[in-house]
Amino acid sequence: MRFCVLASGSSGNALWAEAGGSAIVVDNGLSLSEFRRRAGLRGLSMDRVRAILLTHEHTDHLSGVGTLSRACRAPVYSSPLTLAAARARAESGAFDGRDVSPGESWSVGPFKVLPVPGSHDSAEHLHYVISSETAALGVATDLGVVTEKVMEAFQGLDAAVLEFNHDTAMLMTGRYPVFLKRRLRGPKGHLSNDEGAEFLAGINHPGLKYAVLGHLSRNNNLPELALEAARAAVEGGPGSPEILVASHDTPTPFLEI
Ligand SMILES: [Zn+2]
Ligand SMILES: [Zn+2]
Repeated sequence: MRFCVLASGSSGNALWAEAGGSAIVVDNGLSLSEFRRRAGLRGLSMDRVRAILLTHEHTDHLSGVGTLSRACRAPVYSSPLTLAAARARAESGAFDGRDVSPGESWSVGPFKVLPVPGSHDSAEHLHYVISSETAALGVATDLGVVTEKVMEAFQGLDAAVLEFNHDTAMLMTGRYPVFLKRRLRGPKGHLSNDEGAEFLAGINHPGLKYAVLGHLSRNNNLPELALEAARAAVEGGPGSPEILVASHDTPTPFLEI
């Protein structure tokens, strides 16, 4: 399997994973033209998309899901409440939605997908573990806390995309209003660098090849701070994954697992 984070953060999220000529996309907060442009940069072929997994109905994850689904004729999988919330917002128009239940895995082409319930201020949040015959990738951004269920589901991965949203000191001394600071730090908000680092330390093992730090805040974080926290978290640990930061604007390299 190989994967690429096309966009990560509050201005839009999209991840591409492919194996055996089939691809899965997780979320799309990009316009179709921007999605195509970024996919083109990495030589991705749109006709490979078999499924779109939606984590939750926030704009930065949802806005381009319908257009992508229609363009690729690929169904959108998510929890029933997320699909209902997404439809109620009508943000991305009509799409072919398929209900999935947390904890119940299903197969799409060469992939097995496990949806894992998450803690975020959305209708019925899901993180995903995407497995091929030979590798497993976990994707978890937009979470206020790492629950035991998430920690358990993310054991033994070959690669993980984990949220490193904010540096707590930058957030607290920054200009955001108090209610927003509370929301971001709360149990249904976003993980700080320290919390992301703890998450990474908890899933680190000798087979973990890549850790991609995602959903960094433009205002309350710096890639160097996230990297520093992540590197400290794996130092002396059982595995030594390559650590990368996913950006708002540029796709990551294609990572092979
Ligand atoms: Zn988000
Ligand atoms: Zn969100």
